Amino acid sequence: MKAARFDYARARSLAHAVELLGSGDGFVKLLAGGQTLGPMLNLRLVQPDLLVDVSRLDETRRWSEEGGTILIGAGITHAALEDGAIPGPTGAVLAGIASGIAYRGVRNRGTIGGSLAHADPAADWLSSLAALHAEVALVGPAGERRVKVAEFAKGAFATAVGDDEVLRAVAVPRLAKGARWGYYKFCRKTGDFAEAIGAVLFDPERETLRLVMGATNGAPVVLDRAAPGGIPETVDVAVLERALDDHGFAEDAYGKAVHFVAARRALVEARR
Ligand SMILES: Cc1cc2nc3c(=O)[nH]c(=O)nc-3n(C[C@H](O)[C@H](O)[C@H](O)COP(=O)(O)OP(=O)(O)OC[C@H]3O[C@@H](n4cnc5c(N)ncnc54)[C@H](O)[C@@H]3O)c2cc1C
Repeated sequence: MKAARFDYARARSLAHAVELLGSGDGFVKLLAGGQTLGPMLNLRLVQPDLLVDVSRLDETRRWSEEGGTILIGAGITHAALEDGAIPGPTGAVLAGIASGIAYRGVRNRGTIGGSLAHADPAADWLSSLAALHAEVALVGPAGERRVKVAEFAKGAFATAVGDDEVLRAVAVPRLAKGARWGYYKFCRKTGDFAEAIGAVLFDPERETLRLVMGATNGAPVVLDRAAPGGIPETVDVAVLERALDDHGFAEDAYGKAVHFVAARRALVEARR
């Protein structure tokens, strides 16, 4: 099958992309790496009137540091992150996540911003960046606003991005000294979309532990707790089960089991 007919415009700047989104020319869709949108167009799951290409915007293809926070342009590819675009321990964590996404061909084109904006519950960045206390920077006609990744997904494939907004960057706090990170993606073979994701971040300065369960039926499950004694040895299965029941897993024993496994393995990795 081929895509339905659409008009195409290459955005010259973020401001131009915002202008085109608000142009009133029917249904407008942004194009980044095209790794998700391409197949969706061809299958006619999405039929925009105008496709706005943001894949060449320099503004979204660089990273910078503000205080203790790394700002990663939405157009930075999984491959660039895998190859160590960001230095330091936080960059190594990001590289590890990126390397588990699909295969190199997809990673060469797929972007961190496109992945977040698509908000597939099984995608790696959505859950991992929620665990890392990241925020997204969204630019629209009224200027820029920030949204925590943990609150960004409103459900499966639904986000806080407004119809007239572009995801400009992801703000990831540098890991605190001595922070511990664990990430486990439960999937049938390397590079597949996850059946379950567990992500754990322990912050020794704040003595807090964040555990995220991803690849649910909607937004990731984010659990925060005080951890004055360090990283606990085990996950409290009753707490996880209650959270999963609230996310549509009440009748799904297999779904719950793989999420317990992913959470437990992420915790074990963080303790290593
Ligand atoms: C075979 C295959 C396997 C995959 N496996 C995995 C996997 O294991 N884990 C995983 O996480 N992902 C996986 N993916 C998805 C991949 O990571 C995609 O790169 C990603 O989901 C979309 O990124 P993109 O840059 O290609 O965005 P596009 O496909 O161009 O766009 C995706 C959506 O985001 C919107 N969008 C893009 N950029 C912006 C922006 N700046 N602001 C607002 N909206 C925007 C678009 O309008 C569209 O709705 C896989 C994809 C394929 C094809």
